[in-house]
Amino acid sequence: MAIVERKKQRARASATQFFRKLENLPLAIGSTLELMSSLLVTCEDESSAESSLETRRLILDIAQTQALALKLDTEKGIDNNILWPKNSDIHPVVKRLNRHELLRNLLEYLWSVHGVSYYGIQESEEDVGFTGVPEDVPHYEEDGWEEKLRLFWQLRLKGEDPLERRAATKDIEAAVDKAINSSVVKVEDESMDLIYGCGVTACSRPFYSVESACEHLRASHPLTVASLETQVQGQFYYENYMSNAVAPAEDDSPNHSAS
Ligand SMILES: [Zn+2]
Repeated sequence: MAIVERKKQRARASATQFFRKLENLPLAIGSTLELMSSLLVTCEDESSAESSLETRRLILDIAQTQALALKLDTEKGIDNNILWPKNSDIHPVVKRLNRHELLRNLLEYLWSVHGVSYYGIQESEEDVGFTGVPEDVPHYEEDGWEEKLRLFWQLRLKGEDPLERRAATKDIEAAVDKAINSSVVKVEDESMDLIYGCGVTACSRPFYSVESACEHLRASHPLTVASLETQVQGQFYYENYMSNAVAPAEDDSPNHSAS
């Protein structure tokens, strides 16, 4: 899982960079602090349809990108994101942004730190440096696009990092292969030649290689294979759970930082 750890480290580094850049933004004239508190206002009491639909989408986009930022930050151990209000305190830098500026910053943050193209409905699995803002424009005019957007990110908010998921899936697959391999048994036939059996008690088919015994096991004994898979997955989830429960908190972002 070294690749996952590297991705997290890089994300923490670019987050720090991003916050520093944001804190050094020149004061925008005329921008106000209507944003966070306005997020709490429910969008139901709309009067003029056209502009309120736009406002509603803007507010939803801000809420969803903020939730995403928080979720992805948590996954990667970033706990100093100034775009997210802490104990309902809004960071002074963020107070100076209007809604559009806040959203733009969130989009840029998600892209450069987390490899997420929000309006592109995509999250990169790779650990590469992202710069600038992606070609990230909404397509609200397209039929069904908004539903797709909301649903995709809602699922991501409940899910896990695609790279981490892929790494875990690979590990599990390899462990299942190993388990299948080790259930193959060696036997000798009458002429003392070495042959192999699939290891299932009720089955006596002979094979001349481990590979063909494994192939047969997969093809002919799906229940045995399924039970091996369940065992392996259970073991993985248990280990993962234990390592998360026992692991000491990462100490590379101390609160008593001297900077
Ligand atoms: Zn068999």
